[in-house]
Amino acid sequence: MGRKKLSSEEKATRNRIYNEKRRKEVAVPVSCPVACWSCLNPETCRLIPGSSPCIIVTKDGRFDLYESLFKCKSCDTTRTATVEDNVAAGYIPGTPKRTNFFVSFDLAEILYNFKYLTPGTSEQKFIETLSAVSIKAGTVGLVLY
Ligand SMILES: [Zn+2]
Repeated sequence: MGRKKLSSEEKATRNRIYNEKRRKEVAVPVSCPVACWSCLNPETCRLIPGSSPCIIVTKDGRFDLYESLFKCKSCDTTRTATVEDNVAAGYIPGTPKRTNFFVSFDLAEILYNFKYLTPGTSEQKFIETLSAVSIKAGTVGLVLY
């Protein structure tokens, strides 16, 4: 019993350290454009993290990442991923005004069904459940705006 608990704590610590490192350098995973928007060369773009933080909430919890930048290795220009790029990757804006907070389609579907199939259940409890998932996975707790 005690041994199992220690193993779980070690795993959480390892995940936390991994995610702290990862948080500094990971862009929101969106698909790169097929061709460059500037020089029109095909397959020259790669995804790099931008400077603005971006929160993604999935059914696996919250991930503090960075906005996605596309960089063309042919003409060296960069372009920030648009809301449309994020939606195409499966992330919908959490609010109409913010472009640094997205919810995954799978989580939105779970929340929709949760809300309509189990009326009377608390959205706050749903958020607390997701927060518990995040903390166990070694990411961060949810603080929604
Ligand atoms: Zn280019």
